[in-house]
Amino acid sequence: MAASLTDEGATPLGAEPCGPAWVDVDLAAIRHNVRVLLSAAPSGSKLMAVVKADAYGHGAVPVSRAALEAGAWGLAVARVREGVALRDAGITAPILVQSYTPIRELSTALEHDLAITVSGLQTALALSSLGTATGRDARLHLKVDTGMHRYGVMPEEAVNFAARLAALPGVCLEGVYTHYATADEDDSAMYAQQAARFADVVHALGLRGLRPPLVHAANSAATISGREPPWDAVRTGIALYGVQPSDGSTLDLHPVMSLKAEVGRVLDVQEGEGVSYGQHYRAATRMAAAVITCGYADGYMRSLGGTGEVLLAGRRCRVLGQVCMDSLVVGLPGDLEPAVGAEAVLLGSQGAERVSADELSQRAGTIAYELLCAMGRRPDRRYSG
Ligand SMILES: *Cc1c(COP(=O)(O)O)cnc(C)c1O
Repeated sequence: MAASLTDEGATPLGAEPCGPAWVDVDLAAIRHNVRVLLSAAPSGSKLMAVVKADAYGHGAVPVSRAALEAGAWGLAVARVREGVALRDAGITAPILVQSYTPIRELSTALEHDLAITVSGLQTALALSSLGTATGRDARLHLKVDTGMHRYGVMPEEAVNFAARLAALPGVCLEGVYTHYATADEDDSAMYAQQAARFADVVHALGLRGLRPPLVHAANSAATISGREPPWDAVRTGIALYGVQPSDGSTLDLHPVMSLKAEVGRVLDVQEGEGVSYGQHYRAATRMAAAVITCGYADGYMRSLGGTGEVLLAGRRCRVLGQVCMDSLVVGLPGDLEPAVGAEAVLLGSQGAERVSADELSQRAGTIAYELLCAMGRRPDRRYSG
């Protein structure tokens, strides 16, 4: 009667010893998702794989290599250090630093041939003097704030600003771009307004002979929305990692990350006894439980206490009480008797069951982006595909 885990669980580790909580990253899924996105994007668009935050927790170097193999044109990061790490790994594809870059990091960025986002004159002037001094033009992308209200110059300033950039020595205006705030919503008036403002800017740049070679706007959601004009490139992050970028999306994306751990202990909890910190969960009757070797420091968020479900032998087991830093406790269905060392799946599939990043992030009260980033920090990573 007892379901056994020996098939899946007895030897969860590969050839390399790894700790008791790990993330499996399927690089074949990355390549598949790149191809799907390239065919969903407006035709002719180049694809920039957004690999900031260590590729949303998946590992920037292997993910970047896989994305480039599958046809991505370039990469986008948020920090100079992230771009440097890719160069140090021998990646030569174009890399754009999308976020704010402090002036003190600009020389490092140029040494590593990173394109810099510019939304202010100070940065542009600093790049100009660095480019002039080194004899190699700094590549920059002008950002336009069409309504997101993070970085960028305002649309009405964009053309004059671009003219100033074009006149600076030591720089090359390679791109102009914007970022959407609501591209994941159906029928978003905000999206339409941003898209129209951006199109006006691009048009005006064209009239002045200032249109750079790379005009880009779309994130994952806009890329697949069918509403985007065919600009030169798209910048896709979340969809690359197999998460649908908007509610209605039914794109054939393959999930990339699984979070796995082991059964560290199997125990009986007696009637009335509590489980974990604060003893918030109390057993109504005697019950079987398993300690899983994964906690909030492994990215399994504390808010999943009492609500998350972990797969054991392809069955869903509810998290009991608080998630700890390095472990959590699940209740076992009556006939399930896992061995110590059996494999538990906290994100991903086991047998016929799947816990998706969407499901887990909803239960945790967050979004898949944050969940994946969090899971990318401590667990060991194993790559396949
Ligand atoms: C993170 C980011 C993206 C990617 O967004 P997804 O929703 O993950 O596709 C694109 N552009 C900018 C400027 C970003 O910061």
